[in-house]
Amino acid sequence: MKNLLFQLCYYSGISHLFRALNKHKVVVLMYHGVMSDESTVDSGDWLQIKAHEFRAQMAWLKKHYDVCTLESILKDQTTPVSKPRAVITFDDGYANNYQYAFPILKEFELPATIFITTGMVDSNKLFWWDKVYLATRGKMSFDTRRAFEERCKQLKPRALEDYIDHEFLPSQGITQFSDEAYEAYRPLTHHELSKLAESDLITLGSHTHNHEILTQLSDKQVNETVRQSITELTPFIGNVKFFAAPNGYYKPHHLKIFKKAGFKAAVNTERGIYLPFTFNPYEIPRIGIGRGYSQRSFASLISGFWEPLDKLLHHIIKR
Ligand SMILES: [Zn+2]
Repeated sequence: MKNLLFQLCYYSGISHLFRALNKHKVVVLMYHGVMSDESTVDSGDWLQIKAHEFRAQMAWLKKHYDVCTLESILKDQTTPVSKPRAVITFDDGYANNYQYAFPILKEFELPATIFITTGMVDSNKLFWWDKVYLATRGKMSFDTRRAFEERCKQLKPRALEDYIDHEFLPSQGITQFSDEAYEAYRPLTHHELSKLAESDLITLGSHTHNHEILTQLSDKQVNETVRQSITELTPFIGNVKFFAAPNGYYKPHHLKIFKKAGFKAAVNTERGIYLPFTFNPYEIPRIGIGRGYSQRSFASLISGFWEPLDKLLHHIIKR
């Protein structure tokens, strides 16, 4: 249904109109993983898009947007813009960012920021939500899994890990994942991270140390996980300038902690298009990109036509 609406928006020219209207704003895209086109272990996983989809999207951005770094959107725009700007970001720090996204970014010479969960680097572990996905693939609907994951996020970090490994996975009859699943979903190694850090195209940012849900932590713990991630990233990049809170969950006063830790800006998961010098740079909204968007749907989605419509629909439903 939504895809149909996106297609309609594209063919009617509405997306072109919105792209022009939003020319002075910045579309910040949020990706998670990019999987090999041959992989089947990820079938149906919304957060992991296919390499061919990613390539088509990068080709669109290259042609119609001025793809820039997060840092550049914080600076005064002195030259008049001819194209709307876009920023590419990835959350979590999957090895597949290095394996599949990075070669495509290089091919199109597009910069991107990757927010790293530093405690997962070289850890030999999988993220808990991927364990849930791999254990329930084909058995649980998208919505049921989402609801289950939301309940998991209410647990404290340690309790969450324990619950997934010692109760949930055994209840699903899982003792270990296949090598293929592990390879598709594993986090970056130190070596891969250093290769990304060396590239002029890649900016590394913090996504906390252990992907803690910040709203479940004391202020002291928020400070600790933020500072630990900075300590881990510093040898690779020097100053750590950008931050993304896991799942976009934080309390308003945490913004002060982010600022004090030395970050210049932070992105969240609120859907929207960023207007520089009007919005708070510690609350930069993004547009999440998942699997299954055709190039045309992608073009419509990032044109910004959907946000006002979505708000209007919510308003009508509430009434
Ligand atoms: Zn995350």
